[in-house]
Amino acid sequence: MLKVGLTGGIGSGKSAVAARFARLGAVVVDSDRIAREVVAPGSEGLAEIVATFGAGVLAPDGSLDRPALGALVFGDEAARRRLEAITHPRVRARSAELAAAASPEAIVVNDVPLLVEVGLAPTYHLVVVVRTAPEIRLARLARDRGMSRAEAERRIAAQADDARRRVVADVVLANDATLDDLHAAVDALWHERLVPYEENLRRRRV
Ligand code: ATP
Repeated sequence: MLKVGLTGGIGSGKSAVAARFARLGAVVVDSDRIAREVVAPGSEGLAEIVATFGAGVLAPDGSLDRPALGALVFGDEAARRRLEAITHPRVRARSAELAAAASPEAIVVNDVPLLVEVGLAPTYHLVVVVRTAPEIRLARLARDRGMSRAEAERRIAAQADDARRRVVADVVLANDATLDDLHAAVDALWHERLVPYEENLRRRRV
């Protein structure tokens, strides 16, 4: 099994790359989706969050009120750490469980927005970073998600920048051009690097 970590800034095109990898046959593990699952209504994760931060973080329907929680941890380093101590281990455990369920020949691509911030690079055979110029990301986020420029800029500023991502990247995929160009780059990476790497790992297994 080849474990690939996929990361990049908000709006860089991680989901587009992950979708292309899935079409090529990768097992894609989506950390954002798992992060929502581990705090879903009825989950242990949500119960711990309520025990730690109070019932004020619950919406009337019993789901997590993200803006309320966000307001509590925003700018409060200790509170943010307490929250991460609840969520991160659960996301890691569930991701590992999903990867372990894949076949031994699988190429598992884990889409992890905060891979660099959380220091997870050493847990992958290969780290792929999607890099897109901030101006283009702002335009795509406005066009496709209706996100205001100020909001998109705030989110970009809250993440690591591409220089930090480059330090841990084995492969950088530029996504400043068309989706067709991106797909061609992902296909080339898959056939020329990931498939041979996985085959090599299997040959070397003793
Ligand atoms: P997030 O961090 O918010 O999950 P992401 O990195 O997964 O974002 P995507 O959702 O893949 O980014 O891309 C952001 C938006 O830009 C999407 O609407 C996507 O369809 C669009 N997009 C991605 N790549 C291109 C491209 N090369 N040309 C045009 N649009 C693109």
